[in-house]
This record gives sequence, structure tokens and C-alpha cells, in this order.
Amino acid sequence: MTISVAEVIVDVAAYPVDRSFDYLIPDEMVSLIELGSRVKVQFGPRNVLGFVVALKEETDIPSEKIKPISQLLDIEPVLTSEMLQLAKWLKHETICFEIDALQVMLPSALRAKYEKFISLETDIDNLPEVLKPFFSQTSKVNYKDFEKNNLLHPLKTALKQKLVVLENVVKQKGQIKEVRKVQIADNAEILRDISNQISNRAKKQKVLIEWMIQHVGETMDPDTLYKETNTSSAVLQALIELGAAKFIQEEVYRDPFSKEVGHTKSLNLTEEQSTALQKITTAMENQQTETFLLHGITGSGKTEVYLQAISKCLNEGKEAIVLVPEISLTPQMTERFRSRFGELVAVMHSGLSVGEKYDEWRKVHQGKVKVVVGARSAIFAPFENVGIIILDEEHESTYKQEDNPRYHARDVAIWRGEYHKCPVILGSATPSLESYARAKKNVYSLLTLKERAMKQALPTVHIVDLREELKKGNRSMFSQELLESIESRLNKKEQTVLFLNRRGYSSFVLCRDCGTVLQCQNCDISLTYHRSNEKCKCHYCGYEIYVPKTCPQCQSEHIRFFGTGTQKVEEELYKFFPHARVLRMDVDTTKTKGSHEQILEAFGEGKADILLGTQMIAKGLDYPNITLVGVLSADTSLHLPDFRSAEKTFQLLTQVSGRAGRHEKKGEVVIQTYTPEHYAIELSKDQFYEPFYEREMMMRHQAGYPPYYYLALVQVSHEDVMMAADYAQKCVEWLRSNLSFNVSIIGPTAAGISRLQNRYRYQCLIKYKIAPELIPTLMQLIKLYRSEWIKKGLLLSIDLDPTMI
Ligand code: ADP
Ligand code: ZN
Ligand code: ZN
Repeated sequence: MTISVAEVIVDVAAYPVDRSFDYLIPDEMVSLIELGSRVKVQFGPRNVLGFVVALKEETDIPSEKIKPISQLLDIEPVLTSEMLQLAKWLKHETICFEIDALQVMLPSALRAKYEKFISLETDIDNLPEVLKPFFSQTSKVNYKDFEKNNLLHPLKTALKQKLVVLENVVKQKGQIKEVRKVQIADNAEILRDISNQISNRAKKQKVLIEWMIQHVGETMDPDTLYKETNTSSAVLQALIELGAAKFIQEEVYRDPFSKEVGHTKSLNLTEEQSTALQKITTAMENQQTETFLLHGITGSGKTEVYLQAISKCLNEGKEAIVLVPEISLTPQMTERFRSRFGELVAVMHSGLSVGEKYDEWRKVHQGKVKVVVGARSAIFAPFENVGIIILDEEHESTYKQEDNPRYHARDVAIWRGEYHKCPVILGSATPSLESYARAKKNVYSLLTLKERAMKQALPTVHIVDLREELKKGNRSMFSQELLESIESRLNKKEQTVLFLNRRGYSSFVLCRDCGTVLQCQNCDISLTYHRSNEKCKCHYCGYEIYVPKTCPQCQSEHIRFFGTGTQKVEEELYKFFPHARVLRMDVDTTKTKGSHEQILEAFGEGKADILLGTQMIAKGLDYPNITLVGVLSADTSLHLPDFRSAEKTFQLLTQVSGRAGRHEKKGEVVIQTYTPEHYAIELSKDQFYEPFYEREMMMRHQAGYPPYYYLALVQVSHEDVMMAADYAQKCVEWLRSNLSFNVSIIGPTAAGISRLQNRYRYQCLIKYKIAPELIPTLMQLIKLYRSEWIKKGLLLSIDLDPTMI
């Protein structure tokens, strides 16, 4: 028997059953199709994309019913068998469709796009007059052409009458980029023969062929050839026809690195660093699955440990994956890897174009690189011989994907570590409570760096009580102490970083007469004011309007804009220091590609005295001349309705403070707050992680939150508020009757943002310690949803271990 049937996971996420379907492998594809190949198959009336997940000899489907695979999209499979297994695990672990798990592993260039075409089914004479011209040259026309010409009504009629049919065609985006080169024949004899055939009057041809004889077998860019020989494409074309050369297409990679980097060598490690490295390399040598938590204060040299561990891994002929939060994936960070490992590094982040991402991915797929440095999705880098996986800043919430599949990169890393029998390193100055708790229970091996690598002292931190400032009559956003510190830096020509805890400052438009705040039409959220284009925009759905001249409620003209927080701070700053050079980094100034890097670079080159920014500046910033960090309002993130708000505040303050005095010059930090007595603020002062951990664990224990309990969030949305509320109630009842009594179910309640994109949202929270029946129960709920509720316009989402509630 031979392989003749393929199991295919098809791209029809709305289909109620999530399983593979059998397709017949046509003879001509038998030896070409492999596990992980992308194919096109007919599914119902449509042609859809699918992935081959199994190959077999026979099927239960009767031969007259089974359909053949229509097309094979890749000669080489895009997914390894590891990825196919990982997808099955993700499906179960995050309760998602297998197709979503498969797609998330691929660069977007390889995800399917569909194009609609209209095909003629009858003689053209039978068509209505308006449609005829489209089919005069061809029998298949792009749907968009009818759309553009406003002909959808006659088209619909024609479709109903079956004069034409609608087809979905898989469109492949992200083509490989190729350049055309000239390849000179590699046989000098032939070239001389050709030369003899050419008449002496064809001077240019003579020149070119003689030149070619000197460059037998070479490949070059045609323009170089024209320049060198002072000829043109017509001359070359003539010689090509005689067989002296040919055009070839050469695949090129778009290069996302514009800048050259130098080369760095391994540093002599400190004792703490070598102890840590030793343990990691031992695990590597023993091919041991082991997860390490590398807890090192800011500036303790964690990155150097990563670099040397990777070196070791490469020496063993294996590959390395390094994850960094998107926001700290700055050139400064990637350069540290490129300057050590050069061309062996691929970089993957959202700043790259679709084509660039595809190219970086292909370098990995084809084994051209050995190290990937990237954001969350780089955890799916298709290496086949992984020797180490590193997650820097492991506590960052961006490692959790907020859409389906809602995976956490840390969990995927550990899964792959087990698959490849290699160590996984989670690094942070402020580990997540979950990870630290696991390290304490010896689930992870704890590695600690207590000192800064070059023995620099930690910065001195002053906490300023803003309530006192107010009492003293200071109404500005700068305390006396901060102003004095900034001034002294300006005098000493040292640099200051000012950090605005963004979430506390919204930028909205308010009517001063009636108090109306401009709201989004579709969401239960106020619009954000953008000074750059004088518009108000909803950050959730994209709805935008120009700032109205009068209040929509009371027609008053007293409308006041509160500019984005950073803009306001910048204005104030100039009042105190009119001559200071300020760089502002926020969503407004970093919209265009590369602007983030440019601002950082300019600051590094000393082109400004003060860098003012939001969360974006908390990470990766490492310049010797920064000696002051100011935090304008530490507690704004403390009062969010989120059980992790204290943890996040502590992490943020520690990170920001870590930006000061990383080199020779001593650093100073000024933290302004209304609640100096809060433990998250107090303990961040000396980067006292351990006491913070103890304290916060106690709080979590009392309140019954992670890491003591697990959470799952079930959310229902509908355009009709009653439907949303009703079905959320149905969910709760259903869960209560299917889950054991020691699982608590809280809700239903309206979601934090109760209406989003015109859909009302209700949710319930599941809290549990051990609940083996949970996943099967939730899967049943999803089945119920897919087979019935979905038809009523409901959307159901389930988030295990949600990062936001
Ligand atoms: P972390 O990632 O823990 O915040 P880094 O790796 O950025 O720390 O190290 C902080 C600084 O110390 C960097 O400038 C780095 O080059 C330097 N450094 C790290 N390890 C050593 C070492 N063993 N000897 C000298 N300098 C070091
Ligand atoms: Zn008003
Ligand atoms: Zn909106």
C-alpha cells in the first residue's frame, strides 16, 4: 500500500467542528506532499487553504465522495512535525481552533488571503448588457471590478440566475523578492566560437563578448556589466540569443538592518555571572530540560550571561531563540546580539514590513541563521535543533497574546524546551509572582545576580510626597526637589529621563459648562485627543472626528482639550527651563517606522538634555550620561482595577530607576507620588524584590488570586444588551452545573469596557485551584456556542490565565 490520503486542517474557523478532513492525494502530488505542507482544497462550495497534518494509506470515506487536493502550495513544507504537535497542544491548552494555532506560527505573508472572482457560467450573450463588457476578453473577473463600478446589484441577480458563479481564490502575499542577474556561460570555448561568429562591424557586441571571455562563468548585476563595458541591454540581448549568457533570478533577502555593527568579545564574567552560566551550560551538556529563573537586578549583566550561553549553544551546533518584549527590541538591544554573532542573527519584530518578516523567517527556515532575537511570536521560530531558549523580562504582559490563540510565550518556550531537551532561561529584575513562586518550589532553578556587573552602586532614590507639595502651595506637576535636580543636571551637562505613567493621564475633550466628555459612538470609552491633527480618536475601534467647535450636548463654546499627558508636561517643562532641549517619546512621536530608534539615538548622541516619555522609555535605555530619572506620578498605575496593579507598579518603578547611573557616573532617582506609604512604592526604592514578593503574595493569598488560584475569563458579547446579559447568565448556569463545587464562578458582570465596537460585553470569572474537568467543560461550552449561539450573533471568548480582567 502507498500513501494516498492526507488529513487536512482547513481554514474555516467558523465551522462548528474543529477537526481534520480527509483528501485524496492526486498521483502527481504523491511524492511532493509532506506533513506540514500547505494545500488548497475544496471545502463545501469554496476553495480554502489547509495544512496537511497526517498522511495515511486509506480512509473511511467512500471513494466517490472523497475529493482530491486541488493544489500544493509549497514544495517544501512550511511547518515541521514539532509545530504540528505544538499546535495540538496549543489547541487544548488555550482552547482555540487548531487552524488558528497553525497560522500563528507562520509569518503573516504565508497566511492565506482570499480574493473573490466571478466566473462566467453561460454564453456571454445571455448576460445583462452592463455585465457583458467585463467578460469580453476573459471568463473570470475580479469581484472588485464590479464593486468599483457599482454593479453589485445586477451581479447579484446574475448570481441568482446562475449565469455566473462566485469563487474564492487563495491569494499568496509576501512574494519572495528576486533580482535579475546575468550569468555568463561557463565555457570559454563556446564564448570564443560566438565571438568568431560576430561580424567585426558589430563593435559593441565584439567588446562585450571579449569582456565575457575574461569573466567566464561569472554572475553579475546587468547594470554593472553595462557600465564596465559601456554597452546596453540591446547588445546583451543579442549575445544572450547567441547563447553567451543568460538571465537568472536570484533570491535576495530584504535587509532590515540598515546599520553596520562592530564586533564584541565575551567579557570576563563576575563570580555571580559565572556561577549562573555554569549551571546553564551543564544543563545544555546533559541535554536536560530545565527552566531557570535568572533573577538579577538591573545592570547586573544578565544579557552577558545570555550571550555566553548562546555562544556555547552554537559551539554545540545548535540554535538559540531569544525573546525580548516588543518595546525593548531597540537597536541597542539587537546590536548586542549582532555584534557578538554577526550574520548568524535574525531579528523579528512588528516594526518590520510583511516582506522583511517573511525574509527573516525564511533565513530561519532554511537554516541560514542560528540565533533569533524577536518579540513574542519569535517563539515559533522554525529551528529544528534548538539548544537554548531565553525570555528576557519574563514578567512582561506582552508575552501573552490577547487574541486567539491566547498563548503565553513562556508556556510555549517550556514546551519547546521539553521537546528539544534544552534549558529555558527566564530573566528579570522583577520576576512575575508566578515564576518566582515556582522557583521557590524548585519547579524552576533559581539563579541570582545581586550586584551590578561593574559594581556600580544602585541609584539613590528619593520619594517625594505630592500632598506635601500641594500644602506648600506648589500646584505644578513638578516638585521642588525634582526641579532642582533637573536644573543641576542641565548645569552639569548630564542627561535626565522623565517618565510619565501614561495610564494616569488621559487626553480628552471636555465641555467646561456641562462636563460632557466626548465619547466614542461605538464604544463605552472617551475619545482621545490628538493635537497633531486636531482630531479625537477611539483607540479601540479607530472611530475619529474633528474636535467640534461647540459641545454636542449644550452647544457651549467652552470646550477644553487636555493634550496628551506628555505634551502637557513638555509645555510645563519649557516654562521652567526655556533653554532645555527636550525630546518627547510617546504614541504621537513614534508613529512612523524607525522614529522610536531615531529618538533614542539622538538622545544617546547627546542631542537633548531631557528625554520625556511613557512606558516606552522604561526599557533597554542604557546611556552613560543619564544620571537622573524622574517619575512624575508613581501611583497612577496603582489604582487600576486589576489585581496585578501593585506588581506592575513595582516592576515599572524598578525598571525606570534602573535607567540611571548604569555606568561610571552615579545615578539619582526622584519618584513623585500621592501614596508614598504604599509598599509597592516604598520597596521599589532599594529594588527590594524579596520583601515585595512576600508582601504581595500575602495579599494574593488573602484575596484568592494567582498564583494561589488560577483564573479563567469567559466573555460574551452581542449587539443587543439583553442578549449579551442573558447568555452570560446562561454561561454561568451552565458552568455551575458542570464544574465541581470548589470552583468559584463570579458573575456575570458587565466587562470593564462594557461596550466595544457596538457590542455589549458581559463576563464571568472562574477561580479554581484544581479543576481537571475545566478544560473539557469549556470545550463543551465552545461546542454549544459554535453549533447554536453563534447563529444568534453572539461572540464567546475564553481566556485562561487572563492578564487583564
Ligand atoms: P542587565 O541585562 O542585567 O540589566 P546588562 O547585561 O545590560 O545588565 O549589563 C549592564 C552593563 O554591564 C552593560 O553595559 C554590560 O556591558 C556590562 N557588563 C555586563 N557584564 C559584565 C562583565 N562581566 N564585566 C564588565 N562589564 C559587564
Ligand atoms: Zn456642554
Ligand atoms: Zn470606539
